[in-house]
Amino acid sequence: MKDRSLLMIPGPIEFEPAVLAAMGAPTTSHIAPDFIEVFGQALERMREVFLCPDGQPFIMAGSGTLAMDAVAANLIEAGDKALVVNTGVFGDRYGAMLERYGAEVTHVRAPIGGVPAMEDVEAVLKTASYKLMTVTQVDTSTGVLTDVKTLAALARRYETLFIVDGVCAVAGEELRMADWDVDVALTASQKAIGTPPGLALFVVRPRVMAVFNARTTPVANYYADWTNWLPVMEAYEARSVAYFGTPAVNLIAALNVSLGLILSQGMEAVFARHKTIGQACKAAMMALGLGQVPLSDDVAAHTMTAPRFPKGIEAADLLPKITMAGVVLAGGLHPEIKAEYFRIGHMGSVKAGDLLATIGAIEIGLAACHYRFEKGAGVAAAMRILA
Ligand code: PMP
Repeated sequence: MKDRSLLMIPGPIEFEPAVLAAMGAPTTSHIAPDFIEVFGQALERMREVFLCPDGQPFIMAGSGTLAMDAVAANLIEAGDKALVVNTGVFGDRYGAMLERYGAEVTHVRAPIGGVPAMEDVEAVLKTASYKLMTVTQVDTSTGVLTDVKTLAALARRYETLFIVDGVCAVAGEELRMADWDVDVALTASQKAIGTPPGLALFVVRPRVMAVFNARTTPVANYYADWTNWLPVMEAYEARSVAYFGTPAVNLIAALNVSLGLILSQGMEAVFARHKTIGQACKAAMMALGLGQVPLSDDVAAHTMTAPRFPKGIEAADLLPKITMAGVVLAGGLHPEIKAEYFRIGHMGSVKAGDLLATIGAIEIGLAACHYRFEKGAGVAAAMRILA
């Protein structure tokens, strides 16, 4: 039997063969003409994937946490007020990061699986002048999807910079940076963008650059300082070279291929495919009698699903059996409910067949745990949406 399993966790995901081939090509100099073209093209394609014609894209070696950190370091000066719309672990992380750079942070929270009410966010914005507000589009610890469009409009009314952690969302969930007036959106390569882990990606609107240029204190993070990186991004896009730190040549080549594949489908088709796959996965879990962490379907992500274990079944029982059936899933992440749920990632180049295989493997695992359910009910429920 082939030693092969399907990786269906919320990142890293399954990568396209053409992307992996680009990773494996001989490494060139970072100033080779071919690489200059690839880097420049990847920056241009980012603008299209983020639907942000007036944005400045950045590609840095690092993970999604670096993208979050770079935005915090470059925008926060000691004493600034920041608001975190918190839907899980990654909101906590953003708050801690902003505090590290001297921000006074206010979290607006909801019960686990819910989203904070708009009135609660607005009530905080009314109390003081907030320099920025962050929101996690999909919090990977809860599978909760936030309403980025409405929050962006709210932030604009209060003249607060609006930062979207789109690590589990960009190129999967609908995000229209320019149309919705989002100031910064950030992600990492290993999720719906479809490139192996190692790149921090973000796009910054002109309003943010103006705030950055008006800083009165130096950026407290040497590596992430945009003063160092902006000339590099501008140079490569103009098809020339500037150096600050050696770019991740192979990863950027792979990213360029992956962005090309996404754009060849068209962003509308990409959003629609994720929506359908997400709904099919939810329908399957429901048909199998499994609940989910998000409190309702309208706040549930389309890039991942967070099903609750049935009574009497634990991660250590079920997940290895699903792995045996050929599909790798992830356990819980949110510390307060970690043992109560598991996570399925279905983003990037995921196809209907991948999801059906995943649901089939979950059914095999549940049956091996002696869970009583109608065999095939999950697959059939997904089929009704996918077919
Ligand atoms: N934000 C969100 C929403 C995430 O899902 C993750 C990773 N799971 C991160 C930030 C951090 O990204 P990374 O692990 O690439 O540092």
